[in-house]
Amino acid sequence: MKQFEPSIAQSTAIGASRGRRWVVSRPIYAAAPPPPATAPPPAAALPHAAAVAAVEEEEVVVDYEKLAKGLESASPLEIVDEALKRFGGDIAIAFSGAEDVALIEYARLTGRPFRVFSLDTGRLNPETYRFFDAVEKHYGIHIEYMFPDAVEVQGLVRSKGLFSFYEDGHQECCSIRKVRPLKRALKGLRAWITGQRKDQSPGTRAHIPLVQVDPSFEGMGGGIGSLIKWNPLATVEGKDIWNFIRTMGVPVNLLHSQGYVSIGCEPCTRPVLPGQHEREGRWWWEDAKAKECGLHKGNINANGSQEVVINRDGALRTNSVNGVADIFETQAIVNLHRQGIDNLLKLENRVEPWLVVLYAPWCGFCQGMETSFVELAEKLSGSGVKVGKFRADGDQKQFAQKELRLGSFPTIIFFPKHASRPVKYPSERRDVDSLLAFVNALR
Ligand code: SF4
Repeated sequence: MKQFEPSIAQSTAIGASRGRRWVVSRPIYAAAPPPPATAPPPAAALPHAAAVAAVEEEEVVVDYEKLAKGLESASPLEIVDEALKRFGGDIAIAFSGAEDVALIEYARLTGRPFRVFSLDTGRLNPETYRFFDAVEKHYGIHIEYMFPDAVEVQGLVRSKGLFSFYEDGHQECCSIRKVRPLKRALKGLRAWITGQRKDQSPGTRAHIPLVQVDPSFEGMGGGIGSLIKWNPLATVEGKDIWNFIRTMGVPVNLLHSQGYVSIGCEPCTRPVLPGQHEREGRWWWEDAKAKECGLHKGNINANGSQEVVINRDGALRTNSVNGVADIFETQAIVNLHRQGIDNLLKLENRVEPWLVVLYAPWCGFCQGMETSFVELAEKLSGSGVKVGKFRADGDQKQFAQKELRLGSFPTIIFFPKHASRPVKYPSERRDVDSLLAFVNALR
């Protein structure tokens, strides 16, 4: 196995972290015991006395950008080994109950001791709970489960019901059931290992590094920069993970054999069809750009979009600072601005019916249907049906949701010749024949 020596730097450049090397580890959920009622208020910087006695620290500055580059040709096994070697008992694998079980297998293969934690949201599929049990027995480990705060869950469910995420988005529920328990877990660690892969989400995971200073969460040292995030599978493709899992005889979640690829909570996860992207099975009623539950929110940039757009010929286009390269660019598709779509909404008798895609150019699913929609537009050219596109993100989103029935991107609507309200295309099938059947049924 290759050795990756730490790169010691003199200053804290971007991507470098002044880390403390703790010689002892604490349980993930451990908090310092409260002071006695009679004691004076403790100085925030003073750790608990027992910890002072047990902990020895040395200042090390590691350039994690440089380390990530050095790991580019390393295998996942080598990266997991490196992570465990550096952080010992202060690092844990975040296990979601899906194919990231491969991380546990890699950890086993290193021969080093390792810890695993998981977030039990209370809304997982029965198959996932069985899978956790099978993994514990297979590896002889105890997964350190993290649970949401009961009072917070109670407050949410009593005020908004059990399925509020379908109405007002998944962030609130995910924040209570996932993000806050994760924060508590990470506060007991100096590093964590995730199963994130670049190929999991064209919208949010295209740029994840093999190792990084965690851009969002804090570790036990406190403050941004106190936690290191390892993504040993970042550059591995899903099919290679599956080959590894099968070869090693690792237990798998039975949901995978029912068409589930990406697995989360039961109400927010569904199977995908062959050829559909795995993230289409998660929070399918929302924008692609929001398809992170908050566990990896550092993947979403400040304006909520991905950095790169993929052309339909597969070439990459880079976002500009103020705009995103457009899609559906063909003479057969009319680019409608707000006034144009307003006019369409007002007309009761149109000269021609219109088929319009509501889209956002950064959306991976819009990019995914670009080829078929352009082909459809070219087929309909001169047929008496006009085809248009309306960019419905940003300032236009609220209007599109209210007036145009925008759900998630892309939404396709049809303005019949003699009706004022548009008809929404109800299917997720975006091939030319299915779209054409819809148009022909309504024209
Ligand atoms: Fe709640 Fe769904 Fe998020 Fe699970 S995935 S925490 S059920 S919103």
